[in-house]
Amino acid sequence: MVRIFIDPGHGGTDPGAVANGLKEKDLTLKIAKYARDFLLNNYSGVQVKMSRTSDTTKSLSARTKEANNWNADAYVSIHINAGGGTGFESYVYPGVGSSTKNLQNDVHGEVMKVFSGFRDRGKKQENYHVLRESKMKAVLTENGFIDTKKDAEFLKSESNLKKIGEAHAVGIAKHFNLKKKSSSPSKPKENTSTGTYTVKPGDTLWGISQKYGVTIEQIKEANGLTSDTIYVGQKLIIPIGGCDVREFKVGDKVKIKSSATHYATGQTIPNWVKGQTYTIQQVKSDRVLLKEIISWVYKKDLE
Ligand SMILES: [Zn+2]
Repeated sequence: MVRIFIDPGHGGTDPGAVANGLKEKDLTLKIAKYARDFLLNNYSGVQVKMSRTSDTTKSLSARTKEANNWNADAYVSIHINAGGGTGFESYVYPGVGSSTKNLQNDVHGEVMKVFSGFRDRGKKQENYHVLRESKMKAVLTENGFIDTKKDAEFLKSESNLKKIGEAHAVGIAKHFNLKKKSSSPSKPKENTSTGTYTVKPGDTLWGISQKYGVTIEQIKEANGLTSDTIYVGQKLIIPIGGCDVREFKVGDKVKIKSSATHYATGQTIPNWVKGQTYTIQQVKSDRVLLKEIISWVYKKDLE
């Protein structure tokens, strides 16, 4: 397990640099969270701890102590510059070894891609507390100038903050050679799907689940749904259900299962119809037409 300590600069009573309607402490927290989330969602073998996850006051020594006690493998401190310049720069402690410089190179290189329209101010060295007092390799980034209009406009975009955070994550992952997770947890796994269904007016999750012989929970899980709400035009992945949908051909002899409740056209199936043998006259995607009773029945309701 690689342990990454991410430190969003400032917080609480210390806003950091303030200009153009922006506060450094807010920007650093957002970037740090995007970095953390990207690491945890996309890579395995990594743990992340943050010096703060909300707008709280925390001393520099409390931050480095926490990282040291946790035995972090890297300390990444995120800041926004001020003083009238423009662009991106990064820092390590003066005289550090090649391992720390490599971390700086990897993070700097990735974040600079996001700042491609801006000045690369270089990989620098400075005697900053968090770089000096942290026992592990440490890098500090200064992500644009809050008091320069061009930089501030760039930092006002949430999607840019996300890109900056994710670039930090990619740089860290590169440095530690973190393995990419095989599939992102938010996306349904392809090997469990049998196809997609486009929601039509009047559809309900219950109706769709009945059509395909799967449970509402299985559909929700396959599509990452947190509620029962679906909308017209939505494409749903239909997972393999508990009951097998066998192949039906015209001329096949079938029976309607006793568990069946409704014809594909919506009417209730009377009990006396079940258990008798019928001939398939026509086959459509999820249903068949039974010759003797001239009724459309869902495939899942046949045996
Ligand atoms: Zn700062």
